[in-house]
Amino acid sequence: MADIAEFLDGFERFRERYFGGDESVFARLRQGQSPQALVISCCDSRADPGMLLGAGPGDIFVVRNVANLVPPYRKNAELPGIRADIEFAVKSLNVERIIVLGHSGCGGIGALMAGAGVAAKQFEFIDEWMSIATAARERVLRERAGEPPAVQGKACEQGAIALSLENLMTFPWIRERVEAGTMTLHGWYFDMDAGDLMGYSAETGRFAALVAKARGAGGQEK
Ligand SMILES: [Zn+2]
Repeated sequence: MADIAEFLDGFERFRERYFGGDESVFARLRQGQSPQALVISCCDSRADPGMLLGAGPGDIFVVRNVANLVPPYRKNAELPGIRADIEFAVKSLNVERIIVLGHSGCGGIGALMAGAGVAAKQFEFIDEWMSIATAARERVLRERAGEPPAVQGKACEQGAIALSLENLMTFPWIRERVEAGTMTLHGWYFDMDAGDLMGYSAETGRFAALVAKARGAGGQEK
């Protein structure tokens, strides 16, 4: 994007597509939204969930934050933040799936792996936010001591996704739905080095490629 005019051109194309020849899309969506999935993804400009998943208007309810983190359930938090977004998607929109979508080369995870205080030299808020995933970092340093930073970073990116899935299960109204079989949690990882989409398996504790598998075969069936 070289110029702001390109954003306006982009909106023109959007309007032509959804309000021109195919106005039926917004004729329906004007009445309300009923997305099937809540996607929690990183703010990274290379990991836009709508683009990655080919979603159109009304298809996915998206929450984005640095490193696609979900904090544990907590009442009376100073500010509920993402907890409010999740609550609306679950209780009001009745989403059937929650997808935590992480990615390789994540700057937030890079700051976490660099260690407390490194990001603080430049940023006011990153360290505190990333502390949600401290357990993922500690596990990597314990289990992958001595491995190259790139390997540790990727392991932490994937470990933080698994941790966010665990944290989602601490929300009582999510646990209820998952246990009743009306909601499924998925941990996905966009590997932009390989161009793969990986899915987390709770049984194996590992990520495996989803691309070659049947659609919907991956993810976490907790
Ligand atoms: Zn990221």
